[in-house]
Amino acid sequence: MHKPLVIGILNGDDIGLEIVPAAVEVIRAAAEHTGLHIDWRALPIGRTALETHGSTFPDGTMEALSEMDGFILGPIGHQAYPKVPGAINPHPILRKRLNLFANIRPTRSYPGLGALYENIDLVIVRENNEGFQPDRNVVAGSGEFRPTEDVTISVRVITRIGSSRVARAAFEIAQQRPRKRLTIVHKNTVFKLGCGMFVEECLRIAKEFPDVTVDEVIVDTMAMRLVRDPQTFDVIVTTNMFGDILTDEAAGLVGGLGMAPGLCIGEGSLAMAQATHGSAPDIAGKGIANPFAMIESARMMIEWLGHNRKIDEAIRAAALIEAALTTALASPSSRTPDIRGTGDTADMTRGIVRAIQTIP
Ligand code: ATP
Repeated sequence: MHKPLVIGILNGDDIGLEIVPAAVEVIRAAAEHTGLHIDWRALPIGRTALETHGSTFPDGTMEALSEMDGFILGPIGHQAYPKVPGAINPHPILRKRLNLFANIRPTRSYPGLGALYENIDLVIVRENNEGFQPDRNVVAGSGEFRPTEDVTISVRVITRIGSSRVARAAFEIAQQRPRKRLTIVHKNTVFKLGCGMFVEECLRIAKEFPDVTVDEVIVDTMAMRLVRDPQTFDVIVTTNMFGDILTDEAAGLVGGLGMAPGLCIGEGSLAMAQATHGSAPDIAGKGIANPFAMIESARMMIEWLGHNRKIDEAIRAAALIEAALTTALASPSSRTPDIRGTGDTADMTRGIVRAIQTIP
């Protein structure tokens, strides 16, 4: 028997309370089917933790996470937190302390869901810890400041180490995929130094992966081509802000944010499953949130851990969930309304679990 995977469950806020339990239910069903052992550990975070522990990110949560193999993080609705001590945004702390620098965001079209094209199967690998995000590119203070009432300066940080490590993560993914193609997205025509360094590092890492075909596309052209011919792309690697925008655009091609999963990995061997979308307070509590992005994020985590820890049961559980998702998504009654379904979150979760149990 393999050593059990220790996986954290952090529900987050709003629809997180609905879609994280759905993801856990699906992983549990697949684990049972393949003999995968998981030691689940629920941890307090978000608004419920503020009520029970006096903090949205209680002492002990961070320490507990660093002992785990991976965790599922539900969306955090920090913008709506009350202005009280203890109500903090956990994201920057998590990112910095765990150094999860690569955000892997796949986009895949399934038939009948309202995708703009068929046969889209691409992965955007977004640098996650520096770039143009003011909360990520400094150790203290903010990367944005206002020296006078009429002037605001926003700093963009690009480093060789940040660029080369995300490039390596992207090449490793490209190498495992049938098309073995990688597109570097940048704007070195304007950010001659910043994007220039990013491209230099990507091309340097490319030499380690001679079997991967590499090309470059300027980000504005990429925004257009993603709408016009998304099927031509395989793996895309880009800096933080460009990746943030392009992944939402890509989600729009295949049915919206409910279809946009993500996995964050870093230097260590810890993986974090986190959907691209936010906590969607507008639909929270209605039972209609699309759990796909959260389930697929958790599935990617199990698959990644399976390869990283060499646990066949995990790799098989991930493959089983992948097949079950395709089966369930083919039926409108096991789909939520945002993807042309007649069901709700519970129906979709049930449909996926049923498919897991019936696939031989
Ligand atoms: P953030 O800034 O935290 O990423 P956001 O402002 O992008 O959040 P979201 O919370 O992602 O906003 O919601 C954007 C829209 O997408 C909302 O109308 C929301 O209902 C919808 N949405 C997001 N996630 C889902 C989901 N899983 N299922 C259905 N609809 C969703």
